[in-house]
Amino acid sequence: MSSFTIPKTQVAAVVESIGAPIEIKHDQPVKQASELAPGECLVKMEYTGVCHTDLHAKKGDWPAKPNNPLIGGHEGVGIVVAIGEHSERPPVKVGDRVGIKWLANSCLDCEFCRKGFEQNCVKAQLSGYTVDGTFSQYVVSFVHHVTKIPESIDSASAASILCAGVTVYRALKNSNTHIGDFIVLPGAGGGLGHLAVQYAVNMGLRVIAIDTGAEKQKLCLSLGAEKWIDFKQSTDIVKDIKDATGGFGAHAALVTASASAAYEQAVDYLRPTGTLVAVGLPNAPLGANIFWTVFKSINIVGSYVGNRQDAIEAIEIAAAGKVKVHYELKPLNALKDVYEGMEAGKVVGRVVLKCE
Ligand SMILES: [Zn+2]
Ligand SMILES: [Zn+2]
Repeated sequence: MSSFTIPKTQVAAVVESIGAPIEIKHDQPVKQASELAPGECLVKMEYTGVCHTDLHAKKGDWPAKPNNPLIGGHEGVGIVVAIGEHSERPPVKVGDRVGIKWLANSCLDCEFCRKGFEQNCVKAQLSGYTVDGTFSQYVVSFVHHVTKIPESIDSASAASILCAGVTVYRALKNSNTHIGDFIVLPGAGGGLGHLAVQYAVNMGLRVIAIDTGAEKQKLCLSLGAEKWIDFKQSTDIVKDIKDATGGFGAHAALVTASASAAYEQAVDYLRPTGTLVAVGLPNAPLGANIFWTVFKSINIVGSYVGNRQDAIEAIEIAAAGKVKVHYELKPLNALKDVYEGMEAGKVVGRVVLKCE
């Protein structure tokens, strides 16, 4: 049911087939209120962030393939304009401002869902991958999985918390760290990295930021990183980290890189009993040295996005003003250029697109 006027067509960024270019279509159909299944809601998008995963979805270069034609995007904020009839106890109502995250829906009844690993549900539906995502004016999502957005944060600022924020927030929970511990954040000046710096500082961790360039250096240090290492200038990153941590190495590393070398290296600069949290998704073997992994009692953990509760916590911390997304605002039709900038490693912070 809806009290909003819902148009029949909309503007959306569509990828027709794997590897095809982005097409901005003006006649993409909008699912009407009466067509929504129980549990579905229609969200009028305001803003959407752009994530590296969207680039993989467009290219189709991961082992699990996306559904095409596809509308990408999985960190968006908008208003619920309709809810499917006979939805069971929907936790949101028409008019609510909500976020859409990578995990669009899960069954909520399997072992993984019951244990809080909704992202590992065998029936998981993924925004902008297996179901249409947020690079559009209207998105069909799911009442039990959208995240309510607190009033004190604006939609453009909230968007990137839904993927980048939730992902690093959950990964930090998996890092086995305590107040005063050292954590290394490779890629600290990027979309995930700059949010990881802030959540880590909020946890009382001592951040060693690795990235390159004066702009990213300035950003990381301004966000509270204690030590900066420019990987293009450093001749020995492992030594630099050990020097900065009293000789033992860091307690944890949260690696979001898309190249496997960064994971291998972490085992070298972690102190004994340290934890490597793997967050990035290079389609490659983890070449960690087994001898040193065992000898140093290193923990290697995979951390994949977050559940509904992680999303709520991550957004509430941001809404309280403790974490700020540094983003550049662009129109939806700039998506192609944004992808090019990402591939060239030129994006500092995050890019957010206006969907209207
Ligand atoms: Zn993402
Ligand atoms: Zn499930």
